[in-house]
Amino acid sequence: MGNPPKLVLCVIDAMAPAMLERAVAEGAAPMLATLIERGRYVNDCVAAFPSVTPVCAASIVTGVAQDEHRIPGMNWFHREEHRYVEYGSSFRAAQRFGIARQLTDTVYNMNRAHLSEETPTVFETLDDADVRTAGTTYLMYRGRHRHDPQHDTALTRFASRLMRYPVMGPRELFYADVFASRDTGCRSGLGMPGVRDRHSGCVGAYLVEHDLFDFLLLSLPDNDWYSHKHGPDGQVRSIAQADLQLARVFDAAGGVDEFLKEHAVIAMADHSQALVTDTIDLQGELAELGVLQPEGANILGALTGSRSQSRSRGEDSKREGGAQIAVCPSQRAAMVYALTGATRDAMRASVLTRALAIDGVDLIAWLAHDAHDRPSEGVVCAPDRGELRFAPGGDLRDARGAAWHVEGDLSVLDATVEGGDNALQTPAYPDALARVWSALTCPTSGEVLLSAAPGYEFLDWGGAAHVGGGSHGSLHASDSLGALVLCGIAPTDEPAQWAIRDVASLINRHFGLDPG
Ligand SMILES: [Zn+2]
Repeated sequence: MGNPPKLVLCVIDAMAPAMLERAVAEGAAPMLATLIERGRYVNDCVAAFPSVTPVCAASIVTGVAQDEHRIPGMNWFHREEHRYVEYGSSFRAAQRFGIARQLTDTVYNMNRAHLSEETPTVFETLDDADVRTAGTTYLMYRGRHRHDPQHDTALTRFASRLMRYPVMGPRELFYADVFASRDTGCRSGLGMPGVRDRHSGCVGAYLVEHDLFDFLLLSLPDNDWYSHKHGPDGQVRSIAQADLQLARVFDAAGGVDEFLKEHAVIAMADHSQALVTDTIDLQGELAELGVLQPEGANILGALTGSRSQSRSRGEDSKREGGAQIAVCPSQRAAMVYALTGATRDAMRASVLTRALAIDGVDLIAWLAHDAHDRPSEGVVCAPDRGELRFAPGGDLRDARGAAWHVEGDLSVLDATVEGGDNALQTPAYPDALARVWSALTCPTSGEVLLSAAPGYEFLDWGGAAHVGGGSHGSLHASDSLGALVLCGIAPTDEPAQWAIRDVASLINRHFGLDPG
């Protein structure tokens, strides 16, 4: 056998299967159409829960869920540091926490401190085997090669005090204008929405032309931004734009036919998107319980490193005055944390009572503990539909073959059990039990998890939502089922229900590595 062909993992953020199918039918996505025609198309690849980009990106690159990789949401509460972590729900949300803090958490801490050291990324696994890795701007980039920041770009000049530390990434790393392992001539324009795909396409074409990778993570994020703004139906246009960038990369090899002779391609969504018509002000609804407010920060002070952002002890205690809980919206999902262990059970009961009465809250989940404080079972409840309790093990088998013990109202998850083989089906909430269980047992998750009903989105800390557009985050199928296309790469045994966490092992096996 010769060397395996090179592999490109193209993540098209939020690519909804129905929209990909429409783009292909309209002739707007000829490259993706070719990959589907020559490969395998999956229209129901399950995201993580919360189905938001940081959680999903970590699952894609590590092949595990957040109970192991530990990235729990778009916004979460760091118990050890007693502060909120915000990865960029919106510009206004970033302002509430301080732009400097948000950039540092997203660019550096997410990979260096927040992502578990015990879950290697595909970059790390492949780097260890001397596979030539490469990546364009993607939230998850952790690899074995050191990269120093660029000093001469608009972004690094703007935030020179923040973007001065090296990172460990793939062999070739191109991250906005901050890190670039080569001078490609490609510019990311501050990594602004709408131009990020073009930067990835430009870099991807350069890497193909100069034969610089065996594995490339080609990130095309603009579809998500466009769909948030114009609604999921608008995706036909942004998928067409993503397709143009794929064409640019393929053309660097002489066209799609030539490209596919030497490369396998995985094109996939991290999650999908659903229409938003209403919002939930969870921070306001739970205000009586004492919600910890964001620290805030002086933007320019933070960027220039002046001391103006630091506060006196008196101001801090005023901010925390009476705070009992932290509230962490992640678009169509949210988490609530108890600030002290002593009040955990009482707080959970209060949050639950209030949350059950909030319009637009679809599901509420928490973890019950035994007498030794070990997790004993997950509890999911839905206003008007009752309560379902579950734990791993037991007689029921879900669509991915996992075993569960389930009690209570199956209607909470619109679940059915087929008599003979004890098959548990939850089509409205795909892979529901495994996703909720990993969210509940993730050490960095909140004590109470919420999933919004179709049409609803939790307001972020900047008061922003995507009413009239699209969003995602919930356990519901509408946010959770993304497109997956495999071309030139096939699993040894295909799962009955695909999930995004299946992709990392597919990549590792493609290069003859099986880290399990
Ligand atoms: Zn999004």
